[in-house]
Parts: sequence; structure tokens; C-alpha cells
Amino acid sequence: MSIYRKVQAIERVFASLEREVATFQDATGMKCLSGCGLCCKKPDIAATPLEFLPLAYQLYKDGQAYKWFEELRSEPEVSICKAFRPFVSEGDRGFCGQYKDRGLICRLFGFSAMLDKQGIPQLVTCKTIKTELPEAHSVAVKHIAEKQPVPVMRNFYFQLRAIDAELGQTLMPINKAIEEAIKAILSYYSYRQRRGA
Ligand code: SF4
Repeated sequence: MSIYRKVQAIERVFASLEREVATFQDATGMKCLSGCGLCCKKPDIAATPLEFLPLAYQLYKDGQAYKWFEELRSEPEVSICKAFRPFVSEGDRGFCGQYKDRGLICRLFGFSAMLDKQGIPQLVTCKTIKTELPEAHSVAVKHIAEKQPVPVMRNFYFQLRAIDAELGQTLMPINKAIEEAIKAILSYYSYRQRRGA
């Protein structure tokens, strides 16, 4: 499969996830707080390179891929996601500078479930939503306990892995995942250029 087709396939998985998340949000009232962005500041977000292939592809199209790659490579100690933009206005906590092309974990976190050891789905959300929207949180927990529809993390990781088992296999720090995704895109196009394709 060409890299472009992989990007399209990933985007289809993302689109289907967006629909499931919207259904879950409508049913429960769960949502992010305006101007929050706190979850993007976590220094230990793990992701696979594959979920950032659309971002890497977009950066390549915009002529930014090599710059990002060099910056990520030269700052391996930076743990906060490179796509995060911390300053907007007074009181804001920041936002994603690459929202359209954010990764799978960014789309799942807050509005999905993880299967526990017994295979029972458990809500995965953040402390802020739990504290600031306690009613919605309770509705969401009940909704899941009653086996109502909720995006299940594992299912979406499986769907991505079916597109590219290698790039979708390993979880790593988010910036490393972005770097590896860009590396895959740069290698692909450099090989094609060398072949005159
Ligand atoms: S890609 Fe965007 S949404 Fe995901 S962690 Fe980085 S800043 Fe946050």
C-alpha cells in the first residue's frame, strides 16, 4: 500500500472514531472544557508512529517535515508534545497546533473506554472533566456499565495496526512517535525521488 493510501486509511479510522465519540458525547454530556489543553501537557503521553502518519504527511506537503524532524531529533529530552501551543491569551492553558492531524490517543482520551482484566470496559477520562462535569461523568460511567455504545481504545488500535503492523505496533513517547512518522514519510519520498518516480 502506498504511503498516501495508508494516510487515507488512517483518516477513515479517525472519521469513524469521531462519529463514535460524537454519539458518546451526545448521550452523556461529556466534553472538553473550553480553552483547557491540560491533557496535552502531560509529559508521558504514549503513541504509535502510525497514528501520526497523517500529520507527518501534511508536514511533508507543507515543506515542514525536515524542519520538524531535525528539531525533534535534536531535543530528545523535550517530553511535552511538539504540536502543543502553550500561549493563546491570559487564562488559557494552550491548544493543539495540529488539531486536524492529531493522533489516535488525542482523539480517544477523555471519551473512550479501556477493557479491564475481565474484559469490562472502563471509562478513560481526565481529572478535570471528572471534577468540573461530575454529572456528565456519572452518566458516562452508568452508560458504559449498561453496555451502551462507547469507543473502545483497543478496537481502534487494532484497526490502525491492520493498516501497517510495523508502524502501529510500538507505543513510545509522543514526540518520538511523531519523529518516527516523519522519518517514514521522508524515507518513502526520498526513495521514490532516487528512483525518479
Ligand atoms: S497532537 Fe495535539 S492533541 Fe495530541 S497531544 Fe499533541 S498537542 Fe495535544
